[in-house]
Amino acid sequence: MRIGFPRALYYFDFFPFWAGFFHHLEIDVVTSPPTHRQIMDQGLKKASDETCLPLKLLAGHIQAFKDVDWIFLPRIVSVESDTYTCPKFLGIPESLLPAVPPGMSVLTVTLNWRKGKRQVLKDLESLGVQLGKSKSDIGKAFKEGLARQKRYQDSMGVGWNFEERIRETEQSSSSIVPEIPTAAQNTDLLRIALIGHSYLTQESYANLNLIKKLREKAEVKLVQNVNQVDVETNLSGLRKRIFWSHSKQIFGAGNKFVIDEKVDGIIYLTCFGCGTDSIIQELVSRKAREQHKPYMSITLDEHSGEAGLVTRLEAFLDMVERRRVHEGYVSTYGERLDRNSNTL
Ligand code: SF4
Repeated sequence: MRIGFPRALYYFDFFPFWAGFFHHLEIDVVTSPPTHRQIMDQGLKKASDETCLPLKLLAGHIQAFKDVDWIFLPRIVSVESDTYTCPKFLGIPESLLPAVPPGMSVLTVTLNWRKGKRQVLKDLESLGVQLGKSKSDIGKAFKEGLARQKRYQDSMGVGWNFEERIRETEQSSSSIVPEIPTAAQNTDLLRIALIGHSYLTQESYANLNLIKKLREKAEVKLVQNVNQVDVETNLSGLRKRIFWSHSKQIFGAGNKFVIDEKVDGIIYLTCFGCGTDSIIQELVSRKAREQHKPYMSITLDEHSGEAGLVTRLEAFLDMVERRRVHEGYVSTYGERLDRNSNTL
């Protein structure tokens, strides 16, 4: 049996779990190819105009499958006990059925970690019935999936490289994850925090290779480099809890970067049509203003052009660099450039 797993959206966060789960059940998992022009174009044709770029990409990846028995489109309601996923996740798979190639079947399951681990296991057992697997097989596959997911998440410290980690998950069924090479620290480089959803920051086709471009001039820190304890301790200052899991991670990590003196500037990567970012981006940018931290947001859509991105990046990095070198000088408009003093 072969299951098609689209290389989009939850792939970037939860593929190790599903790879482990299906591998234990002796089911082949086939991923769609990395995004390219045709995948994006196909997605635009089949997804709703109003939806966000990552869902349009998912629609394109669904259409890239051939020769699979099922296309796997889980409905992930929540991934932890106190948040939900974005409402657009909840509309999957129904919102994407128009993208499913004729004659192909969709395999789905609803997972809601707010209801606890036992309920998640029960829901997976229902999925197992469709796959012809016993409860005991599903129980063991669940454990295998959780173990792989934990190793993947534990690897997300400094020096974490998404491409490497995910390649290991795709290629190997081995339970041994090699040591993570420690990133060489170059103190002369600028340090830039890139924050945003994993399926935007790691989607190199849609973001026009942003991480690679940034790494030519700066050391890049990502939301995934911030552990959960730090995320939780940096959520303060809000009158309400954040409802959405990704947004919580982005806000907590973003706040940490804002107050981190070692971070020279922040880039918020968002996309046109993202409802949750319309709130979180504003909150992070206010915090950055309060702390006088250089901040820029980049909004992606299917029309984003490379020249515009490069110009903005260069301008931002030049500004951050000048500020680092000349901090404390008096600017021409009468304010000091250093972050703690506006005495003139
Ligand atoms: S969080 Fe934003 S980008 Fe992600 S699925 Fe929801 S609307 Fe789309």
